Amino acid sequence: MDTKPLSTCTKSKYRDENQIQIFIDKFNKTKSKNNTKVLRGYLCEKCTCWHLTSLSEHNKQDEAKIKALHGEIASCKKTLTKRKNIILEYESETLFQAIKRILFK
Ligand SMILES: [Zn+2]
Repeated sequence: MDTKPLSTCTKSKYRDENQIQIFIDKFNKTKSKNNTKVLRGYLCEKCTCWHLTSLSEHNKQDEAKIKALHGEIASCKKTLTKRKNIILEYESETLFQAIKRILFK
């Protein structure tokens, strides 16, 4: 196991994906049948080391991210609708002016 200086992570650190895979393989071989825990390795953005996470733990993090993204999408859609309306207003006004110019030259 490697420990890099200046890192704030308290989780066990692994040098690379290969090292972590060896650990996961060992874990899977030794775990009992009713232990359904699934381990996964991921690259940490904070310390650039690999950590272990159980899949359920990871799913929770993903769910929170997905929820936040849904919020962003909704707010983007609102902004888009507003802008669309402005464009439509502008276009119909321009069209109206053009027709007026043609009819009342
Ligand atoms: Zn880390």
